[in-house]
Parts: sequence; C-alpha cells; structure tokens
Amino acid sequence: CGIVAGVSGRDIVPVLVQGLQRLEYRGYDSCGVAIHDGSLRRARSTARVAELVQQVQQEAIASGTGIAHTRWATHGAPAVHNAHPHFSHGPAAAQGAAGRVALVHNGIIENHDELRAALQAKGYVFESQTDTEVIAHLIDSLYDGDVFAALQGAVAQLHGAYALAVFHKDEPHRVVGARAGSPLVLGVGDGGKEHFLASDAMALAGVTDQIVYLEEGDLVDLQLGRYWVADGQGRSFDAAQRPVRTVH
Ligand code: GLU
Repeated sequence: CGIVAGVSGRDIVPVLVQGLQRLEYRGYDSCGVAIHDGSLRRARSTARVAELVQQVQQEAIASGTGIAHTRWATHGAPAVHNAHPHFSHGPAAAQGAAGRVALVHNGIIENHDELRAALQAKGYVFESQTDTEVIAHLIDSLYDGDVFAALQGAVAQLHGAYALAVFHKDEPHRVVGARAGSPLVLGVGDGGKEHFLASDAMALAGVTDQIVYLEEGDLVDLQLGRYWVADGQGRSFDAAQRPVRTVH
C-alpha cells in the first residue's frame, strides 16, 4: 500500500506511476491514479501497476495535478470499484455527475459506519464498500471554496489511521494531505517549482532528494510553486520545525 501525489507545471502522471512501481514491493491488490484536467478523471486496476500505465497511456491521462495509490484492502473486497482514488460527486448526485473530490488513503478509519450513516442521511450515495469513501464525501460536505479547510474539518472527525492526498474540482493546482498513524513525506522538486507527497521518500527517487518528513497530525497544502505544513488547527510550522532534508 502506498501513495504518490503532486502538483507541478508539467505532466506528472509518469512520476506518479513510477512512484507506485517503486512501492510495489510492499504488496497491493489494486492500484489507481486520478488527475485534474478541467474535470476529474481516473484509471483503476486490479492488475499490476504496469497494466495501469498502459491504461493511462491509452486514455491519455495527463496533468500537473494528480494522486495515485496502491491498495491493501482492509474494508471492501479487492475490486476496481473499491480501488482508490475515490471520488465524491456531491449529495444525491445523478448517475454520471461530475466528480468534485478525489482522494487516496492508506490506513483504517474506525468510525466509518457512523460517518457513512450521517453522510447517507445528507444524500451521499456510496459506490464502494471501503472505509475510505466516507472521507471523500465528508470533505465534499465541508467544502466551501477551500479544500485545505475542508480537510482540516474532516480529519477532526476521523478516528483511526490515515495518510491522505486529496484534490478538488474547483482548485485545479492544489493537492492537500494529512498524516496520522500512517507515513507521508513531502518532496520538493525542481528547485521548489513542484511538490510531491509520498508514503516513502523512495517513491520519489530520481525526481527529488529534497524531503520534508511530516509528523503525526500534520496537514500539508501543495500549490504551484509553494507549500505549507500545519497542524490540525491550521497553525503553520516554520522551516526550522519541518526542515527540508537531503536524502541519499
Ligand atoms: N482501508 C482502506 C481500504 O481498504 C485503505 C487500505 C490501504 O491502506 O491501502 O480501501
């Protein structure tokens, strides 16, 4: 199980899938990638990452904003509809409605049943049996123009372990993340012009060796040419608290 995500001015889908390949040794039952190219698009597979790469090429999935995942199922059988990234289409969305939130998750959400019930009461329709999908709808339900604020509100309601990477349809050059109980690092690439998230710095080998190790409870906000690390209350950390380290 692993996460690779990022924001750049160039197409980063090759970086994302190569990152997944570097994490393959951990084992996984399915994999997927989602991008923002005006709308939300994704490719998911229960085969090897190599198969996902072919799918991505055939469907011309390319963007500077994307998130990718290898899944080790804990809730919901290994199957394409349970594979990440998960989308939220908003409450009571008609079949085929445009996706609004895209999300990948490593870990386990303990209170997924009660969160799902509350979201279903608001009209959210679930497409998977995962614990993860509740987070996508929760972020959608809290969204008011700022996906970082929505993530901050969402994690305050989550019990369990998570590393998350998320983006929203209305914010094309932004990926936000959080970690608690599951690893996540930030990679600073191309002299600060592009930024990545990964569950292991090794996933970014060849792209950047400039790594910020996130700590328990950290939230992170990646935008074109800038990033921000904060705690659950949104208080930002300065460079001394979350230094950029060169990894070898
Ligand atoms: N609990 C989530 C699921 O079953 C994430 C599993 C993982 O860490 O890959 O989909």
